[in-house]
Amino acid sequence: MIKFLNKRLQLGTITENSELEREMKFIQKEIKDTIKRKFAGSLAIRMVDSGSCNACEAECNALSNPYYNLERLGIYFVASPRHADVMLLSGIMTFNMTPHVLDAYEQIPSPKWVITIGDCPMMKAPLEKTFAIKAPANNHLPIAYHIKGCPPTPTDIIKGILEFLRGI
Ligand code: SF4
Repeated sequence: MIKFLNKRLQLGTITENSELEREMKFIQKEIKDTIKRKFAGSLAIRMVDSGSCNACEAECNALSNPYYNLERLGIYFVASPRHADVMLLSGIMTFNMTPHVLDAYEQIPSPKWVITIGDCPMMKAPLEKTFAIKAPANNHLPIAYHIKGCPPTPTDIIKGILEFLRGI
């Protein structure tokens, strides 16, 4: 308690997490530099939902706000898989969506990568025993990187994108 009070007296009232801000600045710089080097400055992502609850999408939407501002780093969400470099796949692989997910993957020009987001795409037993589910996603697609969480926070997603970029 004393330690906590001392820290409060030293720092005063703060409304921002300065450590996280600093870390984010390093991450954002590395993402921007890597995209410049490996993707000529812009990385296009096509988000595909194979059966999610939409919370993963809500976290991805936050990436476009002025705080995270992904477009400043060269990352764009595109409407057509034909304009994409990467598929960002959320949700459990449902029977009905599987052919559409595979179709979207086919339409992405090579070289292409799939990043899965949230715990759903990798979810297996006991759900794969039902008629409606064709899980997990890696039975159908080559997964380049998996971002864990249910849902992952925008910071987790940005860190995951950086790890993916480092690995390719
Ligand atoms: S991982 Fe969690 S938040 Fe994301 S789609 Fe699945 S249930 Fe929803």
